[in-house]
Amino acid sequence: GYIEERISGQKVILLFGKEEQVRQEFGEINQKLRKSSILAQAFSGTLGPVNNVTNNLTYLIITVTGAYMILTGHALTVGILFTFILYMRSFIQPINQILSTFNTIQSALAGAERVFEVIDEQKEEYKDNDFCINLDGDVELRDVDFAYVTGNPILKKVNLSASRGKTIAIVGPTGSGKTTIMNLLTRFYDISSGEILMDGQSLLNIEKRGLRRSISMVLQDTFLFSETVRQNIRYGRLDATDQEVEKAARIANAHTFIMQLPQGYDTILKDNGSNLSQGQRQLLAIARAVLSKSAILILDEATSSIDTRTELEIQNAMLQLMKGKTTFIIAHRLSTIRNADEILALKDGEIIERGSHMELMEKGGFYAKLCQAQYKGIAI
Ligand code: ATP
Ligand code: MG
Repeated sequence: GYIEERISGQKVILLFGKEEQVRQEFGEINQKLRKSSILAQAFSGTLGPVNNVTNNLTYLIITVTGAYMILTGHALTVGILFTFILYMRSFIQPINQILSTFNTIQSALAGAERVFEVIDEQKEEYKDNDFCINLDGDVELRDVDFAYVTGNPILKKVNLSASRGKTIAIVGPTGSGKTTIMNLLTRFYDISSGEILMDGQSLLNIEKRGLRRSISMVLQDTFLFSETVRQNIRYGRLDATDQEVEKAARIANAHTFIMQLPQGYDTILKDNGSNLSQGQRQLLAIARAVLSKSAILILDEATSSIDTRTELEIQNAMLQLMKGKTTFIIAHRLSTIRNADEILALKDGEIIERGSHMELMEKGGFYAKLCQAQYKGIAI
């Protein structure tokens, strides 16, 4: 575990000049492992010989006692003594076998503990017969409270409603709970109290797979698989044809850079797309969303790593993408959400303001200050 983490974080280690410290820490852990391995080997190594000695002593005692009993005229013959020894051998054999695998059993148990932790996790329940759906995209949150850890509320009495075709923007400081709301819509987490309704149905009654099929997301942290570019875009809709994939890439403005890759659409992406720039990864994620035909679209900082010019260029594509869908946009760059039907300002898990851009600007509250700060480059 230590090696794996340090290798994936090697850039940070190099940048902060921590090579020596890491080497030292690794040395210590390695020494500990060496010591316990030697001990384990020594113990398991002596187990066999000790067992053999015990067995042989047992034979010796039985043979001597038997011989003595025969010689002193007890009711015992050589035949009976021999049979007894044979039985004894078959009795001891399985014990020897268990002992010889003892070492393996011990180390397997240590690993099994962790495996069982995973196995014992409660399975996510899929209720196939419940309201299996094609959602229209009407979303409503009523007095939603939520905490990742009990006692530390993240969302407090959140209310919002969105209908198909509408765009809701959520703004707010880092850590205010914007991504959390999106995690609740997809049921990655369940709410503590209150109610989430989709098409008037409680989210709890909606079949999860159907629900997630109705939502497409462009996330803050894009994830790409170690597959070809084409396959990665196709995650948006598995039955899409090559032409559709390319069309989606063009709309997302990703076509040009994809064609510059060594094998174009068939270039295999390395671990999480480390052979692409952050912005290029986001364009691929947007292409995925373009491909998907879901009713609800979630854009969580979808363009945060894309330069302003490219962002402007794909703005039209985004508008097209949002057409006829219920869209949730989270953005720190406020220029991207100006046209939203409703803007919600979230602070410490509470919605403190809501309204259109114009209304909120007129009001001169939190949002207006946020906007002014952004345009003037002043911190508030
Ligand atoms: P940002 O603008 O940085 O993306 P955000 O508004 O999206 O911020 P959230 O990701 O919703 O913020 O996080 C809200 C709060 O929830 C934070 O204080 C964070 O510490 C906490 N949090 C987020 N994810 C978890 C988790 N998996 N377990 C426990 N707490 C979490
Ligand atoms: Mg977030």
